[in-house]
Amino acid sequence: MTLGHENAGTVVETGDGVSTVEEGEQVICHTVMTCGTCRPCRLGEDMHCENIQFPGLSTDGGFADQLLTNERAVIPLPDGVDTTDIAPHADAGITAYHAVKLAARELNPGDHAVVIGVGGLGHIGLQCLNAMSPVTITAVDVKNSALDLADDLGAHHTVNPSEADVADEIDDLTDGNGAHQILDFVGSDETTALAPDVVAAGGDHYVVGYGGHVHEPSQALVNGDFSYQGTLVGQYTELQELVALVERGDVDLRTSRYNLGEINDVAAKLDRGEIEGRAVITP
Ligand SMILES: [Zn+2]
Repeated sequence: MTLGHENAGTVVETGDGVSTVEEGEQVICHTVMTCGTCRPCRLGEDMHCENIQFPGLSTDGGFADQLLTNERAVIPLPDGVDTTDIAPHADAGITAYHAVKLAARELNPGDHAVVIGVGGLGHIGLQCLNAMSPVTITAVDVKNSALDLADDLGAHHTVNPSEADVADEIDDLTDGNGAHQILDFVGSDETTALAPDVVAAGGDHYVVGYGGHVHEPSQALVNGDFSYQGTLVGQYTELQELVALVERGDVDLRTSRYNLGEINDVAAKLDRGEIEGRAVITP
């Protein structure tokens, strides 16, 4: 299988039934191809489509000269938006945006939010949060370079857990109230374990990254009246909204570009934590 699930490019050919885009048009692809007729599709829940096809995971993806997609997946790009600049929004961006949109609905001016992990997704989520919610934002990352990036992108405070106690810092910054919404782009045992000590009463800890386990006592959730909430990518309409934020200049994606032939070197760099933001492969 050809990998590559964050795709944008120029339409080279359309099928007979396609009417919304034409040859030569620049588009970004939603993460998945959906059927449009099942009940989840009718509800707009693209990620729950009963006939979902996931390029790069269940069908051939975009690390190639051409990608086969469907009309329901493509979003035409505004003039001046470069396909290479925007491609990672097809999954990294929409996933971060979706979680932030959920969090932003629960945030009021004066509240405090925490972004854990300022990497490929977190640096987008931080900017979306800044654009969509008038709150104080603390960024948490074990890499000081990531915290510098967070600072550049509008975080009000930064904490490095290898140098300071995150719960103590949030406690100080919020007068002991905690943060109302946590966006956890890491999802490790250590980051999910922060919730009982840092989430304000009634708040939420969004688990966007994954790999660890949630081990907290049920009583901590009861006493703190908080929830862990998993999030999975986002809806087609949310990618449209993210494209609108990009067009407004509210979200700046940090990318580095490589040719398709360099892909294994890029994977090794990623494995070693040497990619800031997102690497984009161009055919
Ligand atoms: Zn469907």
